[in-house]
Formats: sequence, structure tokens, C-alpha cells
Amino acid sequence: MTTANTEEIADILGLTARLMELHEENPFKIKSLSNAAFRLSKTQMELHGLTQEELEKIEGIGKSIAAKIIEIQQSGTTRELQQLLEKTPAGVVEMLDVKGIGPKKVAQLWNELHIESVGELLYACYENRLLDLKGFGVKTQDTVKKAIEFKMANAGKFHYAAIEKTAMALVEKLKKELHTQHVSLTGEIRRKNEVLDKIEILLVSPEKLDEMIWSKEAGIHVKFYYSNHEDYYYDLLQTSSAPAHLEGIQFSSAPKIHYSSETALYKQLNLPYVEPELREGFLELEALRKNELPGLIDMKDLKGVLHNHTKYSDGLNTLEEMAQHCKTLGYEYLGICDHSKTAVYANGLSEERIIEQHREIEQLNKKLAPFKILKGIESDILNDGSLDYTVDILKSFDFIVASVHQNLKMTEEKATSRLIKAIENPYTSILGHPTGRLLLGRPGYPIHHKKIIDACAANGVVIELNAHPYRLDIDWRWIPYCMEKGVKVSINPDAHEKHAYHDMYYGVCVARKGMLTSNMCFNAMNLQDVEAHFLKRRGT
Ligand SMILES: [Zn+2]
Ligand SMILES: [Zn+2]
Repeated sequence: MTTANTEEIADILGLTARLMELHEENPFKIKSLSNAAFRLSKTQMELHGLTQEELEKIEGIGKSIAAKIIEIQQSGTTRELQQLLEKTPAGVVEMLDVKGIGPKKVAQLWNELHIESVGELLYACYENRLLDLKGFGVKTQDTVKKAIEFKMANAGKFHYAAIEKTAMALVEKLKKELHTQHVSLTGEIRRKNEVLDKIEILLVSPEKLDEMIWSKEAGIHVKFYYSNHEDYYYDLLQTSSAPAHLEGIQFSSAPKIHYSSETALYKQLNLPYVEPELREGFLELEALRKNELPGLIDMKDLKGVLHNHTKYSDGLNTLEEMAQHCKTLGYEYLGICDHSKTAVYANGLSEERIIEQHREIEQLNKKLAPFKILKGIESDILNDGSLDYTVDILKSFDFIVASVHQNLKMTEEKATSRLIKAIENPYTSILGHPTGRLLLGRPGYPIHHKKIIDACAANGVVIELNAHPYRLDIDWRWIPYCMEKGVKVSINPDAHEKHAYHDMYYGVCVARKGMLTSNMCFNAMNLQDVEAHFLKRRGT
């Protein structure tokens, strides 16, 4: 006997009903199960010790449900539920808990869009994928997005992009309230780590602040470190560095005296200033040893925006809107890469629609010159590593981003050879989001990074740093190896609407952590050089 209480029994029956609905089983059975679950969830009645006959007498509970209750009391579950769970991916079961979508809609998402986790579902909302499904609209998509974001927030972890603004506003507010400029973000948020579980703030305050109250306001755990005007920069460097960085720079050898800046403190240690993003005790220490700390990339180094979607596939804006906005922001070029035909779920482009888009690009280019739209495509890397479309069509593009979107469940060997085959295709210019990971959503498929980067080096293929704050893929830890092999990294927003060009900023944040220099950043090159590179790559 287990000690399942009425509430737990109701949960099990309810889940069974939802799973049966997901798998389109007998609607009458589903109805009686969910009715029973609903009634039990509202009652205080203790079912423990009741016999089958006694249970059957309760309103809404017939013979078969009474038997299930007894089974649950004996084993903690039912065979029926176990069988349903066995044929449903765990992530899909989790999707049943997302507010705003019932089992029928979850079934559509699973069967038609092949979404198998809450993380994938959230990203699909960002790509406007849900709009293609019958019965879904912008409103449903928005509800789903908010519900998941809320759930993630409650799990206590956040993408950097989701809390950066809140954190900065908090700092400004504290500066005002405490009447001092000595308030700063510190810790992981100052190092711009991709995923955070708290906002850390160093401040000078005569009294302790209530972290609970500030956390509630921010919607994330806020942790304060207290300092004084004398020790402020000493404390700032100490709290904003990973322990390995402090050890590597022999921080403890510096006297705790007044420093006028962090630079002055590094100087005391006979070191150049190390940007906060780098203070991980990982890449920067070797660079310091070799006296080769590079100047880091900055947003203003970027000259163009590659890998973007329009209404032709799954973007929200028209080609012209995307181009005008890009030009307004001061960029020299825009690479349009709508989805290729295999990506049916994303309204991938047929051959006819490619020709239509190319015509429109040519007209716009006349109008917008010297700004230029480059004709690209985000070609699916098919299961065997080949690209979508025939050679004739592939030739018609200026460049091709090759990415994996389907069949993500692969061994490292399979994933690596699939990618390498795509890299070796002479029409591949850029390898898109190399691992397919979604931060806080799903891990990427495993790849042998060195072999992939070596193949890019051998074939003159650029690697994408997909700058969507959920992707940030390739991981910044591999940037030094890319640079060592001469492989350029392109910071691409993968924008599905014009305001998403801003995501390049998050790419720059992590690129800095990876010590990317502007001369190794592909889209820091001017239009002429970018075009020359694309032509050279395909041997023309
Ligand atoms: Zn993609
Ligand atoms: Zn894309």
C-alpha cells in the first residue's frame, strides 16, 4: 500500500485523461476520467481504506475508475498511465502543463512541428512557427510564450537577455537611493554569462538592504555585497571575478589599499586591465602569460547583418522592411536567409519563390544602393549531410548558411559526419548554429568540435555564432580554437523580425568572453571583402 492522498489520485487520473486525449483515445473514457479527476481535486474526502464497492458509490466514480483508484493506492500509479507515458517523450508530457494549450494543441505541436520539449516550444514561438497551425493565432502563441517564460522564471534561471535591463535599472535606482555612484553589477552578470540565477550588486550603503524585498521587485534573486568608498574597486574586482581568475592573477598578493580604479589595481599586479567578461580564469590567463591580451570586438565593429528571415518564410517583416531598418541602423549589407524547402514547418521556399525573392532583392538593391541585400538561404542540412536544392538553384545565391533543423537525435559520430559533409559542400558559406542547442531548453546534439572547426578551416567555411540569446551557438569557449585555425566567426542574429537585429549585441557579449577580435569576426568585414570571400569559397 502507498499513501497516495486524494489530491495525488486526482493528479494521476487527470494526467491519464490528458495523455489519452493527446493520443486521441476514446473520448467517453477521457471525459469520465477528467470528470472524476476534477471532482476529486475539489473534495476533502479521504479515500484511504475504502473498498471497491464503497468507491463506486461516490458520485462521478464508476466501476473502472474505482478500480484505478485501488490500483493507485496499491502501486502509486496505474498500468494504463505507465503505458501512455512510455509512448510519450518526457518533454511532451511537460508541455501538457503549459497554460493556454490543451492536449489537442500539444498533439498538433508534437505531430506537425515535431516539438518535443518546452524549450523547443518557446523557441518555436520566437520563430512564429505556431502561426502555421490550424486553430493557433498570434494571441495563443503569445500566451504560450508568456506562460513558459513565467515557468522558467519560477525555476529560478534566466537567459542573460531576460534580466539585463532589470539589473541595470536596479543599479540606477540604488545609486539614487543611496546617493552614490559606487553601485555596480558584479559577479556572473557583470561577466555577462549566458544563463544566470541571480543579480549580484556591489554597493556602498550605511545599512544592510533587505534582499527579499529587492528580489521580489526584480523577479529574480538579488544578492548584495557591501563595500566602502576606500575599498570599492578592490571589492569590485574581487566580487566580479571567478575564483580561478583571482588565483591566476595572484590577487591575494595585492595590498588592500585604496585604488582609484580596477585598472590601478591590475597595474599594481603588473597586469593590463582585463575586461570583466574575461575574468573566468579560463582563456584570459594564458593570454596574460603570453602578454597577448587582445582588444575585444565591439558592436561598432560590425558592418553587416547576415542570416535573417522575412515573411517569405517564417519572419514577421517584409523583405523591404528588413532592408530599410538595417540600412537605417547604419549597416552596409544585409544577408537574407529564409528557410529552404525541406523546412515545410517554417514555410521553406520553393524554387519559384526563390526566383521571386531574388527579383525583389535586385529591385531593392537599385533603390537602396550602396547598401546591398545579399541573396542567401538557410539551407537545411539533410539527414545524409547534403543541402536542399539542386546545384543550379544553389548557384543562384550569393551565400548559404547550412543548418540542421530536423532529426536532432544523433550520436556524436553521426552528427559530426553529417556536419562535415555539409561543410565540404562547395556551396556552404557559413555553418549555422553548429550544435542546435537552446539554452535552458535543450542541449545541443553532440559534435566533435575540433573536427568540425578543422573541416571549416580546410574548406574556407565561416562558423556562425548564432546571437539569439537562447542559442549563443557556437559556444564562446570554442572561439579561440576557431581563431587559431583561421576560421572566421560570424555574429548572426537569425532575426525573425527587424528589431531582432539587436540580438547581435548578445552575440558580441559572449564573443568577447571568447576573446574574438574584430579581424576574426566575419561580419566586421566590409561589403566588398565579404562578397570576395563568398566568391572565393565557391571557386568563382
Ligand atoms: Zn536555423
Ligand atoms: Zn535561421
